[in-house]
Amino acid sequence: MTAIVVPIAAISIEHLARKVAQAHAGGADLVELRLDTSLVQVGSLEALYPLLNTLRQLPLPVLVTLRHRSEGGTWDGPTSERQRLYAHADRNGAAYIDQELATDDGWRPTHAKLVLSHHNFASMSPDLDGIIQRMHAAGADVAKIAVMPHDAADLADIARCYRHAKGAVCAIAMGEIGLPSRLLAGCWNAAFTFARLDGDEGSAPGQPTVRELSDRYRLHQQNADTRIFGVIGNPIHHSLSPHIHNAAIDEQNINAVYVPFLVHDPVAFWKACGKFIDGLSITIPHKHDLIPLMNRCEPLVTRIGAMNTIWRDADGNTVGANTDAVAAMACLEEETGSLTGKKAILLGAGGVARAIAFALADRGAKVCIVNRSHDRADALAKEMGGSVADANQAHQQPFDIIINGTSVGMEAPTNSPWPADRHHRNSVVFDTVYTPLETRLIKDAQLAEARTVSGLSMFIGQAAEQYQRFFGLAAPTDVMHRVALERLEAKAKAKKSVMSRDTVDVEREIGGG
Ligand code: NAP
Repeated sequence: MTAIVVPIAAISIEHLARKVAQAHAGGADLVELRLDTSLVQVGSLEALYPLLNTLRQLPLPVLVTLRHRSEGGTWDGPTSERQRLYAHADRNGAAYIDQELATDDGWRPTHAKLVLSHHNFASMSPDLDGIIQRMHAAGADVAKIAVMPHDAADLADIARCYRHAKGAVCAIAMGEIGLPSRLLAGCWNAAFTFARLDGDEGSAPGQPTVRELSDRYRLHQQNADTRIFGVIGNPIHHSLSPHIHNAAIDEQNINAVYVPFLVHDPVAFWKACGKFIDGLSITIPHKHDLIPLMNRCEPLVTRIGAMNTIWRDADGNTVGANTDAVAAMACLEEETGSLTGKKAILLGAGGVARAIAFALADRGAKVCIVNRSHDRADALAKEMGGSVADANQAHQQPFDIIINGTSVGMEAPTNSPWPADRHHRNSVVFDTVYTPLETRLIKDAQLAEARTVSGLSMFIGQAAEQYQRFFGLAAPTDVMHRVALERLEAKAKAKKSVMSRDTVDVEREIGGG
């Protein structure tokens, strides 16, 4: 089983005991005692020996590492000093000892297992298979590589390392792009995956928390049969999809996992990684690129020209789908009843607006499109048989429904795409934006006593349609809804309490993903 390893630095015996106890309580299987980082804090090599004397009393096995400066650590002392320290760790109960392949001096532990490692913080190293082979040939019980991917297509190289290796491997792609290599470690039978404790910074870019790995991604339940799903987009760290899909998968006890892929080039990604992926959600800005690569598409995708889902049929063929349209219509119809003959003002002409425009036209609604870029509005209106209006004239027309299909209200929550004094009480206002949960548009509409439809209902609806295609099962939408609300509330709370900190810190505090 893949072990979750928490790296720690310790400045005293008590500190070490406390950190290991925290890691144990947090669900870690192993701790990595980073002697190099500890050394920076305690100041002398001699002060590290008493820490190593306590290894057998700790509640978790320990991987002992004195990471060299040339591989991202802080140690650059003589080999003889490292050997003396490592021999002491070996005699006193270290479970593993880590030695970089590049600085390997031939010293070997007598009792502990040997990890040979390779780190590259700048790029993917060439010939990863060859590096791993050399590590195993040199006696490594575990071959560890940690490299920096350029794009998500590089994850295919990590997956291949596991397939080709003849011994135990821990292969990590670092940073946000590489995150799936950590989250899928159990599917690929990794020896270890590294994680940080809640509130800790971690020892390398992109480390998830132990809780995320064990609870959200169910690392200990993953195995070679676990089906791999995910969401691609750029950016992706804000996505709620991993939270709600994994919660639903857990609820229905399905052997699957759903991870976020930060992707710059979706075509390169799908060509490299599509083989090991069972299904995908697709978000901004990639809803168009993969359509030509599908074995077939559901008819709506071809008409709309946007695809937010890839699933596989019984023969393993890839099928493109658009679940935004059907979800949006279900939400609207719940509030409006039949849409036939209803006058709808649709703000936006991007991916979501296109899906909604065609679906409204199919149901007999009269659609007027208002968009910042007129040419896009014109083109869409021509395709689906609607009309177009300027933003400053649209509110003069009679309407039953206003739909916001733009991103206005998301980045700046005080902004609204529609004037506050142009709502009326007999209308229905549907905002596809759901972060924040109550947008300015929704608040204005409620003040005017209009009926409102939240973007969150559409988001859950489109995810449920995807889930049904992925697993052939009705999604537990109550679970999805509860988890989404919890995340959005936690996000809003974290944002409020750390207003002065930068975005990266905010994401860290709320767990990212
Ligand atoms: P998209 O294809 O990039 O389209 C963005 C739309 O917003 C375009 O019409 C764009 O106008 C307009 N826009 C962007 N910034 C604007 C500004 N400052 N002022 C006026 N108009 C502006 O994105 P999309 O995929 O359609 O997504 C749009 C929004 O829908 C997202 O922000 C998201 O919140 C929401 N959404 C919700 C769900 C859900 O399930 N609830 C699902 C997907 C998306 P131009 O054509 O002039 O650029």
